[in-house]
Amino acid sequence: MESVYRYIEENQATYIEMLKEFCRQESVSTQNRGLKETAKMLQDYLQSINMKTEIIETTGHPIVYGESFQEGLKTLSFYNHYDVQPEDPIDLWESDPFGAEVRDGKLYARGSADNKGALMARICAIHAYQEIFKKLPVNVKFIVEGEEESGSPHIDEFIEKYPDKISADLCIWENGIVNNDGSFELKLGTKGMLYVELVARGANSDLHSSNGAIIENPAWRLIWALNTLKNENEEILIDGFYDKVFEPTDEEVKVIQELKFDEEETLSELGLDQFVANLKGINLKDKLFYKPTCTICGFNSGYTGEGTKTVLPSEARVKVDFRLVPDQDPEEIAMLLRKHLDSHGFNDIEIIIPESGSKAARTDLSLPVVKSVIRAMEKLHGIPPNIIPMSPGSGPMYKLCHQFGIPTMGFGVGNPYSNKHAPNENINLQDFIEGIKMVATVIHELGSMNNDTISKTKVIHQKQS
Ligand SMILES: [Zn+2]
Repeated sequence: MESVYRYIEENQATYIEMLKEFCRQESVSTQNRGLKETAKMLQDYLQSINMKTEIIETTGHPIVYGESFQEGLKTLSFYNHYDVQPEDPIDLWESDPFGAEVRDGKLYARGSADNKGALMARICAIHAYQEIFKKLPVNVKFIVEGEEESGSPHIDEFIEKYPDKISADLCIWENGIVNNDGSFELKLGTKGMLYVELVARGANSDLHSSNGAIIENPAWRLIWALNTLKNENEEILIDGFYDKVFEPTDEEVKVIQELKFDEEETLSELGLDQFVANLKGINLKDKLFYKPTCTICGFNSGYTGEGTKTVLPSEARVKVDFRLVPDQDPEEIAMLLRKHLDSHGFNDIEIIIPESGSKAARTDLSLPVVKSVIRAMEKLHGIPPNIIPMSPGSGPMYKLCHQFGIPTMGFGVGNPYSNKHAPNENINLQDFIEGIKMVATVIHELGSMNNDTISKTKVIHQKQS
């Protein structure tokens, strides 16, 4: 692999130029800006590394698909997205959000960290590998959607129609960061999600607040209902909520023991004195990575503008998200929530579920393919990856990979100060170059694993999932 690494270093200027070009192309999915052009651009990049490509239409923005196939090889898939978040507030940017300016070794652009840098690193890795070895040791599939930043609303259409385009022995997931100490963060799973809106209604219109003496206030009612969902010890009180929550294996416990998480720095950055329930150490990490949540995202009722307005609101609404863990099912949790509200006398409170939920994804740490990729990463970098067994965030990982028994490993080229979704989004160009090497390493490693290990891998995984 030394010659591949050398090739990457010698050609880094070209690769950086490609990344700049890609970042200069706007692709804001929520505002439908530049998606078609970006899809076409990406298709050209994939063709230039010998992928057979297709632009697959969905009800929303299309999926760009690329593959190289040869009978008998193992398959590595890449899941990414070509869309980015809107760039506002634009006046807080120090340079054009789509200018891809380089300052102090950093490239500043909307989408550089999330996730055009990671995607381009994958493309460049395949380029470099082919330049040196003339062919790939694995089959490759690129699944690149254009709506990740809008919650992947149409990925199901693709999954249902093209299960053959999804099948793989290993999927390299979207993104990740390189930590301050140079270690790559390696994400093996994600939490699931149920998002609900609860609505309490009172009189058929807002009233003078003097009526508060005799007319029920829906804002109070919603607060009383919320008060039954969670207590001050961070326990979620919905009956049956924890029934299916998984028990981490010894290996999973060990991984979070070793996982680097700087409590002091995090607290000081946030201007806080302590975490919830004053959790620390392993208990804090266990809560962050392995426990479900119930979070009030926003509450809306009555008058909240300037000055005073004495009003009795006719309606109160709250948005709540639940980050779920294996094996909680979002539909089942929604039913439990309904039952819970009913049994606490809140059957008048409506539950609106604006989008279908997602299940948590969990890659089995004991899989040979997982172990060998981790070893290869450590060998390249001289420092073990920081393994995040289950990302506290969510995404379509279960739908795209885990329901088919495909193990997932996510890493990328962002950093802790990348400002994803925020002004001055950036990546370190050095991380981008190291990221290209890392992808080439994984390709090489998977290609050199023998077929028996891989096929056994799949069976073990399916039995456990
Ligand atoms: Zn994002």
